[in-house]
Amino acid sequence: MAQTAKNIAIIGSGLVGSLLAIYLKKRGHAVTIFDRRPDIRTVQFSGRSINLAMSNRGWKALRRVGLEDEIKKIAIPLEKRAMHVNDKPVYFQNYGKEGEAIWSISRGVLNRKMIDLAEEAGAVFRFNEKVWDVDLPETKVYTGETEKSEWKEYQFDLIFGCDGAFSRVRHKMQRRSRFNYSQHFINVGYKELTIPANVDGRHKLDKNSFHIWPRGQFMLIAMPNLDGSFTCTLFMPFEGEVSFENITTEKEAKAFFKSYFPNVRKEIENLTEDFFKNPTSAMVTMKCYPWTYWNKVALVGDSAHAIVPFYGQGMNAGFEDIYALDQLIESNGDDWEAIFEAYQIQRKPNADAIAELSYRNFMEMSSKTADPMFLLQKKIEKRFAERHPEKWVPVYSRVTFSERPYAEALAIGDKQEAIMQEVMRLPNIETIWDSEVVEQKMVQLLSR
Ligand code: FAD
Repeated sequence: MAQTAKNIAIIGSGLVGSLLAIYLKKRGHAVTIFDRRPDIRTVQFSGRSINLAMSNRGWKALRRVGLEDEIKKIAIPLEKRAMHVNDKPVYFQNYGKEGEAIWSISRGVLNRKMIDLAEEAGAVFRFNEKVWDVDLPETKVYTGETEKSEWKEYQFDLIFGCDGAFSRVRHKMQRRSRFNYSQHFINVGYKELTIPANVDGRHKLDKNSFHIWPRGQFMLIAMPNLDGSFTCTLFMPFEGEVSFENITTEKEAKAFFKSYFPNVRKEIENLTEDFFKNPTSAMVTMKCYPWTYWNKVALVGDSAHAIVPFYGQGMNAGFEDIYALDQLIESNGDDWEAIFEAYQIQRKPNADAIAELSYRNFMEMSSKTADPMFLLQKKIEKRFAERHPEKWVPVYSRVTFSERPYAEALAIGDKQEAIMQEVMRLPNIETIWDSEVVEQKMVQLLSR
């Protein structure tokens, strides 16, 4: 449907803000993007900045504006997990079916590229301009040096808050009556570490794998970068026996890496240096509602729904928000009130579902990966899914390799879990797990 061109402000030039700018420019609107940070294209980084996993939902949103192929050039496909369990050789688990992969991509490289593309499309960027306040009914944006300094005032027709988990735009909406808001920090933090490339520039570990060193209460993961290095993330409790607070000296850090991650021992100098150089960051689940204010303001991405990163879906979910918004713009034309209302009604249950799934994955990784019954359950599910792909799609695949709603993945996942609980109660399940009896039981439970 045709649209009247609007004068639109986007607060935040992160991944979501810059992709939204590209979408809105394609629809002929005037777009100004504010960011409190300097232009990321002028900031020196080694290309080894933190990386993210892009999966089907993210690609779908990029494809709609013709960017999938261009962005795939700066991403590395990972079709399997490489599990590094102590006292065992590394073993591999395919993520999905043949041809299914998640893609490792540097957040910094991607963000630069998206800003370039948004600028080429005609969006205007205002870097180093922090937004301190927005006037919701008047759609005005106020920026300035400090909260107390003199502010500049800008007038727009519409405002999109893409300013992340601690959004200022949302903060303003929070002061209104009947605005629901919650945030929950987990007791685990993360730190980024690097495994540099070999001297010949090649990757030191398998390049097409997502590497995991699960260690119960903590874990290390690693994803490849284009320059041959790996970005690792160490997830560990802030407090407790093995925790960030208990590793305070170089000696302690070296002992920690040596005893828990023996196969990266050669990297110990690098890991230790990064351990003290890089900050320890927190992770939060943030929920709120409504996400919009009349036909004037909308939250998109982390500002509306920040989630813990254990499903690798935060950016993917934000990109899917944009895809959904654009479809609604297509069908509702100039009726921004209808667009915003439908957007929040459609997306909120899905954002809540991926928040729940991500939190469960965190709980599962931290407390269940060492439980033999849990591992047996996963083995039974995997076997059944391989033998009956039409009857059983694992929740991971429903989230990662599907475009169906997250809420559907959660609901079907709950049903599958109830079935597995019954299966796990079968007598002698440890010995009959790969038998016809178990398979028939699952078929029967599925048809109930
Ligand atoms: P942000 O990236 O937070 O960007 C917000 C922007 O707004 C910033 O540029 C900021 O400077 C600007 N801003 C903020 N306040 C103001 C203000 N007042 N005025 C002006 N500008 C402002 N997602 C995945 O899909 N896959 C993954 O594998 C994955 N891994 C992750 C791993 C970790 C450890 C973490 C923490 C997150 C991970 N995520 C992942 C989530 C992903 O990083 C986020 O969902 C995504 O970056 C959100 O993008 P955004 O643009 O909404 O917000």
